[in-house]
Amino acid sequence: MATEFLFERVAFIGIGLIGSSLARVIKRDRLAGHIVACARTEATLKTVLRLGIADSVAADPADAVRGADLVVICTPVGTYAAIAQRMAPGLAPGAIVTDVGSVKAAVIKAVTPHLPDGVHFVPAHPIAGTENSGPDAGFDTLFENHWVLITPPPGTDPAAVELVAELWRRAGSMIEIMDPVHHDHVLAITSHVPHLIAFTIVGTATDLEDHLKSEVIKYSAAGFRDFTRIAASDPVMWRDVFLNNREAVLEMLGRLSEDLSGLQRAIRVGDGETLERLFTRTREIRRGVVEAGQHIAPAPAEEEQDDD
Ligand code: NAP
Repeated sequence: MATEFLFERVAFIGIGLIGSSLARVIKRDRLAGHIVACARTEATLKTVLRLGIADSVAADPADAVRGADLVVICTPVGTYAAIAQRMAPGLAPGAIVTDVGSVKAAVIKAVTPHLPDGVHFVPAHPIAGTENSGPDAGFDTLFENHWVLITPPPGTDPAAVELVAELWRRAGSMIEIMDPVHHDHVLAITSHVPHLIAFTIVGTATDLEDHLKSEVIKYSAAGFRDFTRIAASDPVMWRDVFLNNREAVLEMLGRLSEDLSGLQRAIRVGDGETLERLFTRTREIRRGVVEAGQHIAPAPAEEEQDDD
């Protein structure tokens, strides 16, 4: 019986939207003999037991990872160094530690120094999510038809990488192995900067005079609504993303503000040709995204999904 499991014992450190969604897949498909969940608050541990997505819970990361052959870190990336340090005494040689963090180079820097010899670190990032948080928000189809980028540091055991890849395949994901720094550049422009724009626009609207603000909300379907959904994403998670992918985000923001200045000028001087040329190009890019199957797909409970 036990030989059918992909892992004997999986420990989740952090079990919110992403962790609980993966735990649901593991439970649904009986991919592990035992799931143990660790979170910061008693309330989350109770919720996890009520939902039946873990077999046991532990408040201390070292206790949670003891005896686990797979550990999945699913907390905001700013917590990683402290968590790796706290769980290290419980890790056994041969265990695989993976994660789901939205940035990768900083995560490798934060975790690697704390891991005992013989423990394999296989960083990963599922490009799927919603603006909701916590274990109640998770669902087992979240990762279906979404990419998972795996960013193993040089020298990582290929067998450990393959096991993590197989877990994500079972969740319905497509796998790509990527260099961590490259990952951070790609995600800066495809996810991090777009989120920053949403936070900015919604912030700007919030600062408007009262009478304008009420109309912004009333007529939000005109385009603003999608920004408000994205800007409702978890504040701590996104604070940590920007603080841990600083260089790539700043580089992309530099390019963006140059392009924005160009558009500002085109509008000021009435250069419709420049505007139309850009909008035609961007429309083609949208077609490419749809053809690649990467456009927003409705998820259960009629939620929309982000590519985080
Ligand atoms: P979430 O729903 O807010 O869940 C976070 C979990 O981490 C909770 O269980 C929380 O416990 C726990 N936690 C927070 N701080 C902790 C600490 N100091 N020690 C121990 N546990 C702690 O977050 P999420 O959306 O699943 O995101 C988790 C990770 O996935 C992040 O690194 C994020 O970058 C990445 N990610 C997110 C998305 C997305 O769309 N949300 C997509 C891809 C990747 P309590 O509930 O007890 O506080």
